[in-house]
Amino acid sequence: QISAEPVLSCRGLTVRFGGLVAVRGVDLDVHGATIHALIGPNGAGKSTLINCLTGFVKASGGETLLAGRPVAGKAAYEVAELGMARTFQNIRLFGGMTVLENVLVGCHRNLERSILDLLFRRAKAAEEEARFIDQARELLAFVGLNGRDGQLAGSLAYGHQRRLEIARALMLAPSVLLLDEPMAGMNVVEKAELAELISQIRADGTAILLVEHDVEIVRSLSDRVTVLHHGEKIADGPPDGIFADARVQSAYLGR
Ligand code: ADP
Ligand code: MG
Repeated sequence: QISAEPVLSCRGLTVRFGGLVAVRGVDLDVHGATIHALIGPNGAGKSTLINCLTGFVKASGGETLLAGRPVAGKAAYEVAELGMARTFQNIRLFGGMTVLENVLVGCHRNLERSILDLLFRRAKAAEEEARFIDQARELLAFVGLNGRDGQLAGSLAYGHQRRLEIARALMLAPSVLLLDEPMAGMNVVEKAELAELISQIRADGTAILLVEHDVEIVRSLSDRVTVLHHGEKIADGPPDGIFADARVQSAYLGR
């Protein structure tokens, strides 16, 4: 069942770009071990909301709480360190690096510590590196990229690049994973496979905020749906009620 305390929440979150209000006073609660879909037409503010929650874009107002603690003013890497991991609407991988190296980049936060810590760690570095590599290989197998460690990321098929990005995010052992249109450009089979993977991540207890346009996928996969329109939240609730809502139908489905 849904835990009482949300893993990730925001209150009155607002993002302005000059005169444009891309996100306007949004309240959101994402609970552990749930898939929370974030939907809305193009330009509704979905990516901006994710960018703001994860510290890539500064809020103009409101606050974000991770496990009940404010994360205001923190840089993206600090937010990641606190347990928020993400993927991007446009894949961001190092195409000239191997699959394994791309996943290991995800754990850089573990190396950004104080000098003392660093000196102490140097002795343990070799041991740690081996542990990270094992962990990375496990995650690659988990996302279905077994045996591709040494391949260049840029040579992977598009759907596999999406999976690699997810493996990299999971390297942070996040309490919440934010996926910005991970299924964009995929065929029906690839989408179904990725949906299965996302369900498995939920089963492991992780909270997932998922931007997805495919209504059938959102219906079958998500526990809760938030609808944005012109930067504002216009509906929030279980998927069945959401798609029956007249405002959602006119705004999002164009009916
Ligand atoms: P969605 O992801 O729902 O399609 P976005 O969050 O990408 O929507 O965009 C919301 C609005 O904010 C759009 O009008 C977009 O043009 C604008 N926008 C997004 N990012 C920026 C930016 N960095 N600077 C200026 N305007 C932006
Ligand atoms: Mg977007």
